[in-house]
This record gives sequence, structure tokens and C-alpha cells, in this order.
Amino acid sequence: MKKEIFGLTPEALQQEFVAVGLKKFRAAQVYQWLYKKSVFKFADMHNISKADIAVLEENFTVLPAQIKILTRWQSSDNLTEKLLLELADGNSVETVLMHHDYGYSVCVSSQVGCAMGCAFCASGLNGCVRNLTAAEIIMQVYLFNAMIAPQQVSRVVVMGSGEPMLNYDEVLGALKFLHREDTLFMSYRNMTVSTCGVIPGIERLTQEAVPINLAISLHAVKNDVRTELMPVNKGYPFPDVIAAAEKYAQAGGRQVTYEYILIKDKNDTPEDAQLLSNYLKFKHASVNLIPANPVPEKGFERPSAKRIEGFLRTLQKNKINATIRKEMGKDINAACGQLRAKFNRRDV
Ligand code: SAH
Repeated sequence: MKKEIFGLTPEALQQEFVAVGLKKFRAAQVYQWLYKKSVFKFADMHNISKADIAVLEENFTVLPAQIKILTRWQSSDNLTEKLLLELADGNSVETVLMHHDYGYSVCVSSQVGCAMGCAFCASGLNGCVRNLTAAEIIMQVYLFNAMIAPQQVSRVVVMGSGEPMLNYDEVLGALKFLHREDTLFMSYRNMTVSTCGVIPGIERLTQEAVPINLAISLHAVKNDVRTELMPVNKGYPFPDVIAAAEKYAQAGGRQVTYEYILIKDKNDTPEDAQLLSNYLKFKHASVNLIPANPVPEKGFERPSAKRIEGFLRTLQKNKINATIRKEMGKDINAACGQLRAKFNRRDV
């Protein structure tokens, strides 16, 4: 059985290499190929002897070289690209590359499926299958990094399928790895973790004392509506979530982003906008309004442009920092879980 080495620290890699009779310096070389050059095939690592390449191939595998890309979609404006990846155990996850004017961001999945059961979201249609490992999360970033070389991914958002706070160790492990000077050397300020409001995870992240951006999927500010949309609200009521997020913001001096999907006739009234303003007034908060991507399975519609504008204006009148999310990749169903759900329905 070959050993998987992707995501190992330089020290761990060295141990593995020495154990199969390779010289220590080979570990440093391979490490550099993997994480500085995004080259994942041993045969392409030019400074390694043929004999050692054979030893490497006989003993080790490198996750990104193993992954099968099931489908690859590009949006019509070419700014968004989505991959559906088949993992070693046959499960699939999706990952999205976005080209902004300030650089490339990757939206990674943290779980196969999701257990949270949010009514508007396609990821949770069949529950959570399993957590992703840190290596599988890092791999999503590096696959795209290899595709855009010599440019580099500069931001990571943990906003794909899954609830990152229920896979905390692997998610944080992946982000810490990407922060290393000898990998992408990505600033924590360029990383965002989005949660539906799992308070213990928010508290752990506060303890972590790293300046990762926190996003909260709020989506409603009436208790019954939020519970209907997001069952997690029963265990972690949203006012408590806002309180925990505010502590996070105060501890790190960072603003929290509140995501709010606008769903026609559900959470889009002027009253909702006023209530939302009341909750977030004087908080370190900004609001990202997301006109719903319709999910055919759920019958959710997007409000009219007038309704959306009105909602934004009420927030702005109340001095809440708010924007309407620039839509990317709508034509490739780039919203959370939509691609995998479609693929599983086999009608793509
Ligand atoms: N579980 C985490 C991260 C994954 S969901 C969380 O809840 O934050 C991340 C985001 O996907 C949601 O906040 C929402 O912005 C987006 N999303 C999911 N379904 C959507 C839909 N139907 N339309 C628009 N955005 C959606």
C-alpha cells in the first residue's frame, strides 16, 4: 500500500523519505515542487534522479495527482470555474475558482455533503457523508493553483459544501498549512471561514487568535423564519450567534460578515431589513446580501430587483455597511452544493 504524502510537514516528509532509504535533501526538494511549484507528479520533478523517482513512485502517492476531475465548468464570462472532484473513496466534492480584479480566490468544501439541512441549500439534500481531511482541503486550492501558474491563489473562502465548524481541526489545519512561509504563505486576512452559527466553533476560533475572517450565514432575523430556513437555529439561536461573533470581532479587531440570502416573500420585507439593522447596529459587522440562486428542489425564488434595492437602502439608512454580492458563476450553478446535487441527479 502506497503512502499518501500530500499535506505533510517538511519534518514528517523527511521521516517518510528516510524510512524508504532516500536522502534527507530529497524531502526538501519534493516539498518545494509540491508547494512552491504546484507540480504533483514525481516524474516531472526535474532535479530528482531517475532512480529516486522510481523509489518515490513505488512508495508514495500525491493526492492532487490522484484526483479525478469529473466535470469542469467555466462561466460564460470566464471569471468563475468550477470543478467536481472524485475523491479516493468515490465521493465527490466541488470547488470553485473566482478571478477577481484583486486576484484569484478559491471556495473550498469542508465536508462531503452537509448535516445542517438548510432549506435553501443544495449541499445538505442528502445529509453529511463525511468530513474532508486537511489534505483534501489543501488539495482543492493547489489544483487550481497549478492551473493558473505562474499566478497564485491569493484568497481562500471556506464556503463550499459542508459546515466548517463541525470539521474544525481539519479546516484549521488546512488554513494553517496554507499560511506557512514554505507553502502559499497566504495571509490569514485573506482567508474566510463561513458558518451557519455553530457557536462552539466560533468560540474556538476566537481562542485561536489568528486574523481569519469570520462570516456568519444569518439569512433571517425572525426566530420562526430562521428555524424554518436553518434548523441549526434551534440549538444555537441567532442572537447568541451574533453575540459570539461580536466577541470574535472584538478580540481580533476584525469585522464579521453576515450573509443574508434574499428569498422572495420569506425574509425580504422592509420590516426584516429594519430588524436586521437593529440587531447589527453598533456591531463590527457588514452585511452581504445574496439574491437567492433558485434551487429547483426547494421552490425558492429570488425577490424583484426593486425589493432587493429597498432592502439595501433600509440597511444603509441605518448606517449598516452592506453590499449586494456580485454574482459570479450563476450560469454554472456555482452556489453551494448545486453542482454535486445536479451531478447526482445525472442530468448535467
Ligand atoms: N456551512 C457554512 C458554509 C457553506 S454555505 C455556512 O452555512 O456558512 C455558504 C454559503 O452558501 C451560504 O451562506 C450562502 O451564501 C451560500 N448558499 C447556499 N445555498 C444558496 C442558494 N440557494 N443561493 C445563494 N447562496 C447560497
